[in-house]
Amino acid sequence: MNANASSQPSRVLVVDDDDTIRFLVSLALEQAGFQVEQAVNGRHALMVFETVVPDLVIMDVMMPELDGFAACAELRRRPDNTLLPILMMTGLDDHESIDQAFNVGATDFITKPISYPLLGHRVRYLLRASAAMMRLRESERQLATAQRMAQLGYWQWSHGQECLRLSAGVCTVLGFDAATPDIPLSVLRNFIHEEDQPRVWQWFTDVCEHGNSQEINYRILDARGVMRYVRQQVETLFDEKRRTLQLYGTLQDITKLRQAEERIRELAFTDSLTQLPNRALFKDRLGEAIKLAKRYDRLLALLFMDLDNFKRINDTLGHHIGDLLLRTIAERLREGLRTSDSIGRESMDSLDSGVAWRQCNIARLGGDEFTVLLAEVRRYEDAAVVAERIQKQLSRPLMLEGHEVFITPSIGIAIFPRDGDDAEALLKNADMAMYSAKHQGRNLYCFYDVSLNETALQRLSIENQLRKAIDRHELSLHYQPQLDLPSGRICGVEALVRWQNPVLGFVSPIDFIPLAEETGLIIPIGEWVLRTACQQARIWQDAGCGLSRMGVNISVLQFMQPDFPSLVARILQETDLKAEALELEITESLLMRDPDGANHTLQELKALGVQLAIDDFGTGYSSLSRLKQLPLDRLKIDRVFVQEVNTRPDDAAITTAVIAMAESMGLRVIAEGVENEAQLGFLRDKQCDEIQGYYLSRPLPADQLTALLHQYQRV
Ligand code: C2E
Ligand code: MG
Ligand code: MG
Repeated sequence: MNANASSQPSRVLVVDDDDTIRFLVSLALEQAGFQVEQAVNGRHALMVFETVVPDLVIMDVMMPELDGFAACAELRRRPDNTLLPILMMTGLDDHESIDQAFNVGATDFITKPISYPLLGHRVRYLLRASAAMMRLRESERQLATAQRMAQLGYWQWSHGQECLRLSAGVCTVLGFDAATPDIPLSVLRNFIHEEDQPRVWQWFTDVCEHGNSQEINYRILDARGVMRYVRQQVETLFDEKRRTLQLYGTLQDITKLRQAEERIRELAFTDSLTQLPNRALFKDRLGEAIKLAKRYDRLLALLFMDLDNFKRINDTLGHHIGDLLLRTIAERLREGLRTSDSIGRESMDSLDSGVAWRQCNIARLGGDEFTVLLAEVRRYEDAAVVAERIQKQLSRPLMLEGHEVFITPSIGIAIFPRDGDDAEALLKNADMAMYSAKHQGRNLYCFYDVSLNETALQRLSIENQLRKAIDRHELSLHYQPQLDLPSGRICGVEALVRWQNPVLGFVSPIDFIPLAEETGLIIPIGEWVLRTACQQARIWQDAGCGLSRMGVNISVLQFMQPDFPSLVARILQETDLKAEALELEITESLLMRDPDGANHTLQELKALGVQLAIDDFGTGYSSLSRLKQLPLDRLKIDRVFVQEVNTRPDDAAITTAVIAMAESMGLRVIAEGVENEAQLGFLRDKQCDEIQGYYLSRPLPADQLTALLHQYQRV
């Protein structure tokens, strides 16, 4: 009978100094089908191991030269023998020897006298156990290797426990020592990336309640603070009442997988030459941007750009230079658009860039075609500004491996929603616009909607000129006198800005003030106006012209600057003008937009001592009760009511009511736009305090107004 299923019989080493016992044991084992080696003491046994490696050792304890304990200990020390079954033969009831045998690593013991018929069974059993042990070891080792290779670990949690038991693999994933594998749930939670925590926690809750779960992927910050992607799977064990008993989870580090996926995506969606997004990605982003623009009712601009004469460069200088050129162009585009890609009108610290878009995407569609997507533009002119900037940026000469190259772009612009409401249509129309730019002579940009070309150009040109207006001294102030009706004296003037430009000629404030407000240029312009008007007021005071008040128009945007009151204070101090001599005119719309904020600023201004007037009163429907709470000095009745006071009963009624109301509120009233005797008569009749208008005088340059003031003083 074979001791082993394999053809080779198992080999047993029998070690005993007692010849009889050794002989009998060997005989019994041979009869049971084992192959037997013999040794007479421990030292001899170790020598046998040099030539044959037995599958099992049966060893007496008491032997000369080297006893069984020492030999067993020595065998165990050898790495190959850690799982070798060693059966010690001890005397019956020799507890001390049994203990010692286990201490030195014996697998089992057998007591003398030995039952020879059973010995074979005993040995076979031990060999089987050892083989099972070996298989277990091997499969554990394989599992550990597989888990390590898959960067996978597992953990376990049992009901009522605060801590999770983690495998070494989980510890590796989390990036800490496996020495303390048990950690509280809350600690594990801290590893989860902040943004993923709610989602992961919800998932855990579901798993605990319902069991079956899909895997979940999320981010962790490991013990060293490095971000990793992990995949989590959990199985739940319930009791008969469906209460959670245990959770078994695996945690796998999928960072490398993610990186590989990202790399694949990158390769699929970027242009390998320039590293810009390719057509597929761009269309995708354009689609997304359109959705957002639709939802928030915004404008979006698509610039389609093609390089002029690129083919010629490619043909004459070779593809290598052509590629280099495209890369350089991509770089310039990126640089040129990066610097200002998040400047909104709201932020006024970079006025000279003057362009409003929040998000910008550049792509190469192929060949020499590039696209720029401006999501969230405020006005279509902004697209023109960007187109001009690109032209400027690209038109600088390039040095490519010793060749000086000049290149210019032709750019087509399509605006969402007016030029198409999906990605396909916008791209097609921007492309068409690019072709018409090429036809018109290259290095140009063109809107798809041709009507925009003219307007955009015009507005841009005004805007560009306006930027330089202060420095070029093109702005001046005219002053329109205001007459105190009871005394017949000029009591104040209103400063009105004028712009004389060599290219555009005279531009009315009605046209350029709104543009200045849109572009933020009103801030420096307004400051200039305020300073100049205060200087002039001071000059007239010094000259003894008897002028008690200088009115200055303040735009909403100026008024809303947090440091506006301190600017006023500074200018008053600089020009040495008394605060009471300055009157700030603000419009009704401003009060309605943010009444509380406006009130706060008005109080601050009032505290300086300046006078405050509401301009164009009557057009904005302000609530009277609100007006009452504001520290105002004067209402200016709008020209539109004054114009027809004698012909339209409505206007007469409004004007009369405003005068009466103002009086009851302790405010003074001035009527604007008085052009004739009849209007004056009406106002005088209703006891209006003051008037202003062509009837008295048009707005005049300072020197002419000086003459007028002297004239009135003489009267
Ligand atoms: P506003 O503050 O209501 O100024 C009065 C406007 O009415 C002035 O027009 C003035 O020339 C005009 N006007 C005066 N009397 C008569 C009249 O009898 N008949 C008619 N038809 N018009 C008369 P202007 O100078 O063209 O200014 C227009 C608007 O531009 C101003 O309206 C004001 O809102 C704004 N503006 C002017 N200068 C400044 C400034 O320095 N800063 C700001 N923020 N706005 C200004
Ligand atoms: Mg005014
Ligand atoms: Mg007015």
